[in-house]
Amino acid sequence: MYWLKLIKKNLFKVFLKKIFISIFAIYFVLIFPLNATDNNEIASNKALDGLTASKSQIEEILEYFSESIQNKTPIDTEKTSKMFGYKNFEEFANQYLKIFKLTDITVDEIREYLEGTDSTVIIDQSKKNIDKLYKLIMNDEYFKKKNTYLKTYKKGVHKGNEINMMALAVYVNYEKEMAKITKNPNLKKISRFTWWWGVTWGNNSNPYGYALKGCRESAEKYKLFGGKCIIVDWRSKKTGEIKNMIKPDVELAQRMKELKNKKIKKEKPKIKVEEKIKIANINIPVQVFLVKYNQPNFNSKITSNEVKEDFKKANDIWNRRGLNFEIINISNVKGSSKKISKDLKWVESKYVKSLQIDLKKQTMKSKNDKKYDQIVQKIIGAKKNRNKNAINVFYIPHIPSGLACGVAYTYALNKKYFAQLDQLRRQNLGFIIIGEKSACISRGRTVAHELGHMFSLGHKHDQKTDLMMWGSGIEIQNWQLQKFQKYHNKYLRKRLTF
Ligand SMILES: [Zn+2]
Repeated sequence: MYWLKLIKKNLFKVFLKKIFISIFAIYFVLIFPLNATDNNEIASNKALDGLTASKSQIEEILEYFSESIQNKTPIDTEKTSKMFGYKNFEEFANQYLKIFKLTDITVDEIREYLEGTDSTVIIDQSKKNIDKLYKLIMNDEYFKKKNTYLKTYKKGVHKGNEINMMALAVYVNYEKEMAKITKNPNLKKISRFTWWWGVTWGNNSNPYGYALKGCRESAEKYKLFGGKCIIVDWRSKKTGEIKNMIKPDVELAQRMKELKNKKIKKEKPKIKVEEKIKIANINIPVQVFLVKYNQPNFNSKITSNEVKEDFKKANDIWNRRGLNFEIINISNVKGSSKKISKDLKWVESKYVKSLQIDLKKQTMKSKNDKKYDQIVQKIIGAKKNRNKNAINVFYIPHIPSGLACGVAYTYALNKKYFAQLDQLRRQNLGFIIIGEKSACISRGRTVAHELGHMFSLGHKHDQKTDLMMWGSGIEIQNWQLQKFQKYHNKYLRKRLTF
């Protein structure tokens, strides 16, 4: 019989809980009733599961960071932030801290975590470097402040038992930290990490299993990625011996050997082919609903003229490619959500905080997604406000989650094919919601961007100047125009008539 106890350790709870949750996309599922008079439509609410919402800027950038870390692609946080339409990394990080109400973590610590492994470094796993990593962990300010491992060891007694030995397991991205140490032998600090420890008494001499198990469980719980749990420290109370347990990684050593031998190929400069700009010739009807609310924190002010101004700007962008969006009607509708204040409070206090990552499905979900979608649906009055022969655009005071300036709910963005998808797409069930107020510079550009989503255009990662990215880009590529036209022709041409 072993007398073994596993001790829960301090985690930098708030930080971990929040920072790793927002990595993948949210798929909003909307269910709204069908018009019973339309015989061609799929008459089941369930068939409408899977209507996909365009992702917000912050969701996309976090997804991008996560993918880059997992694929070991080096990240330039400044460049990436600008690419996704932020002024700089700090602006992104501050939005992040604000949304998730984080206080015990700095902008630099977020930057540090998101920056992946520098793949150009040939990592040196010398004893000196491994000792350095050990020292950085054991002398880490946060660890020193929060751990109970060292205190317990000092006491020598745990729950009335005289301690035999102890071990500390740490969740760390070993490769990344070793690359940093190789590059800078005077490194002062490693990324924030989490830990767990085990202790034995009596004759038991294996504190490792429990330290590792606990470490893995906490890493799992806090959705960590990019690293793993390793035993860092072992100590015996009886003899006073303390050992650095970090071992060189054999697989990593092999890879570094190969990297060393590999001749670094210089990338050939790409020859830019001058593409002839293609022009479409399509006029698309748009139905606008101005949903009126009169609450202190949800107050509609927008006028028809302001909407027309938005569409003028959106058309300035699309007209260059021969596409025009024509408002056929602007309808003032009374906001019908009776519990609006309560709902908005719920979104702020419960929904945004409850977003969780599903590592297996690679999606970001909240157990509250359905309720959130229902709230959004209720706010715009999706049940009654719909023109089947136009693109439906709703204006509300702001997007409830605060994660975006506008959002497109559409089957055009569904990535997974299922039997009835084509039919659902032909029904023109989607819609756009624009927030009157938002952090985005141009509401007209937001309108143009969301209109692109309605015709299957997704976000792109590699073009700062692109309309379908964030920021101020207004470029539309030939292939995007073709994709747009193809979608219009296949699914919506017959419906979108004047
Ligand atoms: Zn978008």
